[in-house]
Amino acid sequence: MKKIKNYINGKLVDSTNKRFINNFNPSTGKKYSLIPDSQKKDVLLAVDSAKKAFVTWSKKTKKERYELLMCLANNIDLNFKKLVQAESFDTGKPEWLTKSVDIPRCSENIKFFATASLHFDSKFHEMDGAAINYTLKEPVGVVGAISPWNLPLYLLTWKIAPALAAGNTVIAKPSEITPYTAFLFSKICIKSGIPPGVINIVHGLGSIVGEEIVKHKDVPIITFTGGTKTGRRIASIAAKNFKKLSLELGGKNPNIVFSDTDIKKAVEWAIKSSFLNQGQVCLCGSRLFVEKTIYNEFKSLFVKRTLDLIVGDPKKEESFLGSVVSQNHMKNILKKISEAKKLGGKVLVGGKRKLLDGKFKNGYFLEPTIIENLSYLSKTNQEEIFGPVVCLIPFDTEDEVVKMANSTNYGLSASVFTNNISRGHRVAAKIKSGIVWINSWLIRDLRIPFGGMKSSGLGREGGFGSLDFFTEQKNVCLKIDSEP
Ligand code: NAD
Repeated sequence: MKKIKNYINGKLVDSTNKRFINNFNPSTGKKYSLIPDSQKKDVLLAVDSAKKAFVTWSKKTKKERYELLMCLANNIDLNFKKLVQAESFDTGKPEWLTKSVDIPRCSENIKFFATASLHFDSKFHEMDGAAINYTLKEPVGVVGAISPWNLPLYLLTWKIAPALAAGNTVIAKPSEITPYTAFLFSKICIKSGIPPGVINIVHGLGSIVGEEIVKHKDVPIITFTGGTKTGRRIASIAAKNFKKLSLELGGKNPNIVFSDTDIKKAVEWAIKSSFLNQGQVCLCGSRLFVEKTIYNEFKSLFVKRTLDLIVGDPKKEESFLGSVVSQNHMKNILKKISEAKKLGGKVLVGGKRKLLDGKFKNGYFLEPTIIENLSYLSKTNQEEIFGPVVCLIPFDTEDEVVKMANSTNYGLSASVFTNNISRGHRVAAKIKSGIVWINSWLIRDLRIPFGGMKSSGLGREGGFGSLDFFTEQKNVCLKIDSEP
């Protein structure tokens, strides 16, 4: 049985109460590791160590921080294979995915923000010779970074890297459902010579460890990625102390296919946006709007391609889908499919648990599922499912589909498929979401502002936007005497 440890003040330690939470491999259903069941005391120790480390880390030159972060990124690359296997094992997602997306993005995040900090600048405002204003950007302090299970190390490094590059220290809380790569990352931090206390990782339950981080008076800034309900709770606690807050939350993203598009290409994109990572990407397109004139043609191709998808051994290249992340999550998704049926939804493909043989017989695999015949206002089409489930919805006109796309409380991302350039721009401008892709999905440039509208989040991270978030701006005004 593997024993995962906290990383506090440069050391790998158990929680002070020496209690553990069980961690499961979702593709076999077997318990394989123990996670520290940390409590307030562990958070206090971690914040203390981060506060002490801040004194020297914040005073290091940008170049010194850059060099340490690049060393960290290079050591991630050296441990690539181990991290690829660990991330797949812990989450149930296919190894080809952790190899092509999750783990490459970890070192990319760190290299990107280490480099960006060298180019980060600030403005000055000159007042007709009477005064000059210049703006200093200073690190904020100890950053609380709370991340989810769907892209564990990818999202953890997305937060830690800019926070550190900007001169802050960090207390991070990975998801208790997928703690393994964060633990391996702690070991890599030690090897890379990251000074003690600069990064602290405290494992445990969100309702305990997460909340203690958010409540702590010496953590003035919180970056959170996770569900909207948790985000609301965090916002209500953080608001009491006017903490800086960035929230990246859930989505119910529309994928809109117009009749003038290349249908085959649109189907291929829809396969990815509906089922990649078992539909557990916040940006997945779970509502697939298709123009009525091509609805039947699109549907039959999409159904055929979905039936071809292999759900299976995460180690095999041929498996497009592995298991979903946990037994609870699998049950929730199945419950939502059954609710959809009760509402009149017709399941065209899937809808059930996928039972595999051998060592995977107790794994949490689900069939990729397509549902039609539900109103765009139905619960199924309004609430996030976060699994391999997509609803097909026909539409007649551009105005109608924009209205339907904007009908949820969410506003994270959208995709529009059309060969009419003007229509693409027009619809993109009307969609209420933080990102719109035209004729694609999930093309990510780390420089762009990333985040959601409405209940999908607060603020934007990405590029210099992240460095702005992780710094406080201070304006200095220097009066210039007109006479010598
Ligand atoms: P979650 O909200 O349950 O948990 C996220 C993290 O918050 C975990 O580390 C958890 O332990 C912690 N947490 C739970 N309760 C807490 C509390 N009261 N105080 C502080 N921390 C607490 O989310 P999840 O199930 O891990 O992730 C799935 C959700 O994340 C989905 O809704 C998905 O859309 C969203 N997500 C959003 C983005 C984005 O960029 N917008 C990216 C990935 C995932």
